[in-house]
Amino acid sequence: MDDLKNFTRQEIKEICATLDFEKYRGDQVFEGVYKGAENIDDIKGLPAKHKQALKEKYFISGLKTAAMAVSKIDSTVKFLFELEDGEKIESVLIPDKERNTLCISSQVGCACGCGFCATATLGLRRNLTCGEIINQFIYTSNGTGLKVDNLVFMGMGEPLLNWENVKKAVAILNDEKGYHFSRARVTVSTVGILPVMKEIADNDYKFKLAVSIITADNELRDKLVPMNKKYPLIEIAKMCRYFSKKHEEPLMFEYPLFAGINDSIKDAEALYQLMKGVNYKLNVIPYNSVSGKEFTKPSRETALVFQEFFTARGIMAFIRKEKGADISGACGQLAAVYRDKG
Ligand code: SF4
Repeated sequence: MDDLKNFTRQEIKEICATLDFEKYRGDQVFEGVYKGAENIDDIKGLPAKHKQALKEKYFISGLKTAAMAVSKIDSTVKFLFELEDGEKIESVLIPDKERNTLCISSQVGCACGCGFCATATLGLRRNLTCGEIINQFIYTSNGTGLKVDNLVFMGMGEPLLNWENVKKAVAILNDEKGYHFSRARVTVSTVGILPVMKEIADNDYKFKLAVSIITADNELRDKLVPMNKKYPLIEIAKMCRYFSKKHEEPLMFEYPLFAGINDSIKDAEALYQLMKGVNYKLNVIPYNSVSGKEFTKPSRETALVFQEFFTARGIMAFIRKEKGADISGACGQLAAVYRDKG
């Protein structure tokens, strides 16, 4: 049995064709799945014999909300979801005046082992299916009644190491008969999985690409991001230049700022030099402490000086506001709660 949420509209059309349904039934089934059908019998307008034929091989998945916490500071909502096999993942919904952003997970745990990240302590348990990725969007919207305007793949896992399922989930989210998310409202973030970055550069996928640079010092990056040994910074910078030649849209560089580690003007200068020729915006993220990790957050002044270094050189640089501090809801803190809950 397979989940209908694991298939794009085109694939559902092919499934319907193999079952000898009329041509238009593929769209009808796809729309039914994304207009709230909780099981195949709920799909409106589909004859009973078609439903029966589908049910022999397929089902429509749901997602169990194991826990939910709402920040008293800024109304950020953290969801702990339990998957069919008992594994748990988190999604974080961040309401804001201008837009509501949902941070979703792409894997249970992560294999990348980044030294500053709580999720890394879990190791990789498994990839999420396409349906499990999409369900985070459906169940956080339904669970809060909030309209999600913006989706970021920055929760648990390295999205480009679960690329086939992430790619499919984005296609369904983009689909006009699915959720019709435009390119501008979906961001996929990576630590730099080069072969997949190349594929993204060579194609026109409907999302923005963010790269977690972390530091411009290759040796330090080897320690902070073990994946750097496989895909080193210098090659990532080359790939970013290649991306900029092929796409008008700027890349987003994510730069967590750790006190005394990567937050000096020298660090800013090194990043600036390394990324010459790349069209990018910079998102400076003062680090959120994770229990058991030695990294600390720099002062507000340090973050402002780091930001100013780039804005003075014509590069758009932002400082990300901390969200959900009282519920461990900010990025990089997901797994600590998961582990505590067992
Ligand atoms: S920072 Fe991202 S890529 Fe690195 S271990 Fe954490 S989840 Fe994985």
